[in-house]
Amino acid sequence: MAGNLIVIVGPSGVGKGTVLKKVFQDLDNLVFSVSATTRPKRAGEIEGINYFFKSKQEFKQMIEKGELIEWAEFVGNFYGTPKKYIEDQVKANKDIILEIEVEGAKQIKQILPNALFIFLAPPSIEVLYKRLKERSTESEEKILARVEKSKQELQEINQFENLVINEEGKIEETAQSIIQIIQAHRSQNKL
Ligand code: 5GP
Repeated sequence: MAGNLIVIVGPSGVGKGTVLKKVFQDLDNLVFSVSATTRPKRAGEIEGINYFFKSKQEFKQMIEKGELIEWAEFVGNFYGTPKKYIEDQVKANKDIILEIEVEGAKQIKQILPNALFIFLAPPSIEVLYKRLKERSTESEEKILARVEKSKQELQEINQFENLVINEEGKIEETAQSIIQIIQAHRSQNKL
């Protein structure tokens, strides 16, 4: 028996990271796929925990060597999922969560249509902008670029089977909705 691949997809600033922290507290046998990125490290981020931080050259080499299961450019930087860790965890019967943007999720869907896809959406674009502002990890210019990208991403919601809205102040409820979807998927796959 092998583990499940779970893809949490949705716009930047929707709260994927915060919600997933809760999901990891409540569910066992679950691991997080650490992505590679060329984006500069933010204050408090740790190499190998939040991301594997790479130069553009290193990232290009990972692509050329076939080390990434998917990758995408997102607002001027590259992001990708290392293949080996996923393969090892799935073989070890662990469920693995990927927290990625839409283009990468579509690539995974092409190669692994049986993965579980959950689109996490904001209640509105205004809320998304406000959250990105409050997070204050990006300049105004970059925030606006992320909001523009989000508008495109929200057009693709119907490509994914499961939709959860991360309403204001409802992190716990959002996490519980995701947990229920994962549990339902797990029990289906045991049949
Ligand atoms: P951030 O710069 O805010 O950490 O991430 C920007 C966007 O890239 C987010 O939507 C995040 O989910 C996405 N992302 C993170 N890792 C990956 C990855 O490995 N592949 C893809 N396609 N997107 C990723």
